Amino acid sequence: MPELPEVENVRNGLKKLIIGKRIVNTRVLWDNIIKDPQVSEFQQRIQGQKIEDIRRRGKFLLFVLSRDVLISHLRMEGKYRLERPEVPLTKHTHVVFELDSGEELRYLDVRKFGKMSLVEKADLELHPSMKDLGPEPTDDTLETAYLINALKKTERPIKACLLDQKIVVGIGNIYADEILYDAYIHPERKGKELNESEIKRLRDSIISIMNKAVEKGGTTIRTYSNAYGDEGSYQNYLSVYGKTEEVCPRCQHTIRKIKVGQRGTHYCPQCQKAGSDKP
Ligand SMILES: [Zn+2]
Repeated sequence: MPELPEVENVRNGLKKLIIGKRIVNTRVLWDNIIKDPQVSEFQQRIQGQKIEDIRRRGKFLLFVLSRDVLISHLRMEGKYRLERPEVPLTKHTHVVFELDSGEELRYLDVRKFGKMSLVEKADLELHPSMKDLGPEPTDDTLETAYLINALKKTERPIKACLLDQKIVVGIGNIYADEILYDAYIHPERKGKELNESEIKRLRDSIISIMNKAVEKGGTTIRTYSNAYGDEGSYQNYLSVYGKTEEVCPRCQHTIRKIKVGQRGTHYCPQCQKAGSDKP
């Protein structure tokens, strides 16, 4: 599943390709991709709008159009491709935006889990997919005091808290494991058990891991790539994710894999103790 760094890479790729172009027609080949409004209204409203900018909020791509914003969630396998119309559609192409440049922006999705919404600019923050999102994992937006408050009453394991988009956006399974390893925090510890210095460290790890992952274009595992087909390289910097039974780069202990809240979780039992602070 693309997490924030992968979506950011997709955004950067798309920006170079489609900013300033106008949508002249939209074909929807799989209706369920369009969440709201209804497909016919979606097609009518988007017609003639210019793509002014592409932004991102958490794992959502935001196509800023003349009047509306197209909110696009890639979920598991969604991707965009810019093609000439004569290039045949694949069976996984579900939405085609015909552009005034003569090209087609195509949305492909093997699993069909992706969703699109069209919302008026003024209503963006109120849309159900946006309104409960937590802060972005950046130095400017994620404050230690906020995180202390968000975690202080929760019985949930810290791994589950990091995946909760209401607490902080953009972190999925890969980066949650890397962040907790970087912060020397066991993934099963309850949010409320972390002391202030641990939460401070956690915040710093969230910001530094996510920044570095964005810088490296995200992590390429299986099928992810941006609109150019550029792959990220963060897979070369992973410390614990996917490293089960390999050696911890810090202490040489063996990396273990457990389940935390149904999610496969990688950690070092030596560096990330169950009940205590940093060794
Ligand atoms: Zn270790």
